[in-house]
Amino acid sequence: MIRLPLPWLVFMALFIFLTGIMVAWIGYAIVRNRAEKRKLLAWTKCPVCSFRHKIQPSPSPTRCPQCGSLNEHHPLQVI
Ligand SMILES: [Zn+2]
Repeated sequence: MIRLPLPWLVFMALFIFLTGIMVAWIGYAIVRNRAEKRKLLAWTKCPVCSFRHKIQPSPSPTRCPQCGSLNEHHPLQVI
């Protein structure tokens, strides 16, 4: 049997608990950032009228639904 003083036992329990919360927090942030980047790949901003619209990513230029100009796909940036 391992004998530990009570303050060490409390410290270890607190350390394990906080480490678990931090790992879950970082994992959730990574998953959320990846989902946000994946979502923004399908959105583009028209350079003429600044209208943001959803498109199907393709190498050919797409037409802006707001002003009708032909645009190349530039994915939106995550701020
Ligand atoms: Zn436009």
